[in-house]
Amino acid sequence: MSDVITTNVLVIGGGPGGYVAALRAGQLGLETVIVDADGLGGACLNRGCIPSKALIHAAETYASMTRAASGAGSMGIRLSASPTLDFPETIRWKDGIVRRLSTGVGALLKRARVRHIAGRAVFSDAKTCTVEQDGKTLTLRAQNVILATGARPAELKHLPFGGDVISSTEALSLDRPPERLVVVGAGYIGLELGQAFAKLGSQVTIVEAQDRILPGFDAELAQPVLKALTRDGIALHLNAKAMAATEQGLEIETADGARQVLPADKILVTVGRRPVTEGFGLETMGVDLSGPFISVDTRLRTSMRGVYAIGDVTGEPMLAHRASAQGELVAEVIAGKNRAFDPVAIPAVCFTDPEIVSVGLTLSEAEDKGYAAQVALFPFQANGRALTLGESDGFVRIVSARDDGRVLGVQAVGAHVSELSGEFTLALEMGAVLEDLAGVIHAHPTLGEAFLESALKALGHPLHA
Ligand code: FAD
Repeated sequence: MSDVITTNVLVIGGGPGGYVAALRAGQLGLETVIVDADGLGGACLNRGCIPSKALIHAAETYASMTRAASGAGSMGIRLSASPTLDFPETIRWKDGIVRRLSTGVGALLKRARVRHIAGRAVFSDAKTCTVEQDGKTLTLRAQNVILATGARPAELKHLPFGGDVISSTEALSLDRPPERLVVVGAGYIGLELGQAFAKLGSQVTIVEAQDRILPGFDAELAQPVLKALTRDGIALHLNAKAMAATEQGLEIETADGARQVLPADKILVTVGRRPVTEGFGLETMGVDLSGPFISVDTRLRTSMRGVYAIGDVTGEPMLAHRASAQGELVAEVIAGKNRAFDPVAIPAVCFTDPEIVSVGLTLSEAEDKGYAAQVALFPFQANGRALTLGESDGFVRIVSARDDGRVLGVQAVGAHVSELSGEFTLALEMGAVLEDLAGVIHAHPTLGEAFLESALKALGHPLHA
């Protein structure tokens, strides 16, 4: 006999998409159950955004102290001895943050009267699934189902995960930094983790099949990061294909067809993420796919009545804040509110050193869309706050329409620019024109002044350039 639970809203997946959907549904008074297989918070909280940013911060702290001890520190700060790294303690610190946030999500759900079931859901039809729990089978039936099953690391056929070939998940829980780490894939996850391990003392090599790093960002934005890879002692092989793991390391093929083995203790494969659409009976649900993703409309409805999908499983950009925005919205749609997912822009942030932010259109994207567009760039070298932080590489760049000054896109590269992403996105969402930005008094000294200065530059009267 299996226990049967019926509910109005059933959410599958407790990532930033699923848990926010469940939370909002609960707040709206809808009877809600959430099922999650791997811990509340999903990939983002347990194996992605949060643990990676913790590791990046610890690595930078260690690297700056190491520089100070070697006499290469800036601002007159010297250390009389090199810092020591207790890496297991670093991992415990990171895990503590994850635990605290995941527990917090559980408490929020409880407060919103959402029932949480830990386990893997398998569907037998669009509105019915079972979950195995403590040797018992629970059957769940719902009027509305929200699929938020997320994505998992993509595997290379000839370089499957296992042993010393690892994904970002294992990389975030190693017992020590590998002496020699080869990273396959120079997208944001590979570069963020590659730089972090280089700062923690690993000898890092990055292999990328394309002719440039960060293919998702334009070359001008990627350039300061490319420079930083050299600074961090990271070797880079572009136009190179990862072929196979060998006893010694990773065999690669370079553009001229030559083969060589890159010595490695661990090979970290970061070649993208694949939506989770298999293994839970999706084929029984009558839900259409669009390529590898679940197809949804602007109200996040799938092709099956009463079944919705949100987050990474629905397509690009596969980012936590997109998943959460969809999660909040889909609960309101189910509650009968008139909402549609149609953002002007979704910010993309790369937490490399320096960081990159891109919101809206680049100049070439704007031109491709038929805009007569212009670009204005303000360098952080002319920004007082950047200089006081000792990190003045990079710039803020605004793309705007030539005729009415409408802001079409904003990009930035530099230390801490991730914190400017909200202001950039607000400008786009509010339909700001250059005069709007120029009229906003920015606190001094802040990095945000570079945004104001870019706007003034686009208007033809910069003050500090
Ligand atoms: P997920 O977070 O993937 O959650 C899906 C959940 O569903 C999982 O917990 C899974 O166990 C569960 N599930 C799947 N199938 C079932 C089933 N049948 N039954 C029960 N449960 C199931 N994004 C950013 O925006 N910023 C960043 O800085 C960032 N950094 C990242 C760094 C790394 C190393 C990685 C790997 C990812 C990063 N991401 C980042 C991406 C981000 O993690 C995802 O975009 C986000 O987690 C997607 O949320 P989601 O709710 O769609 O799915």
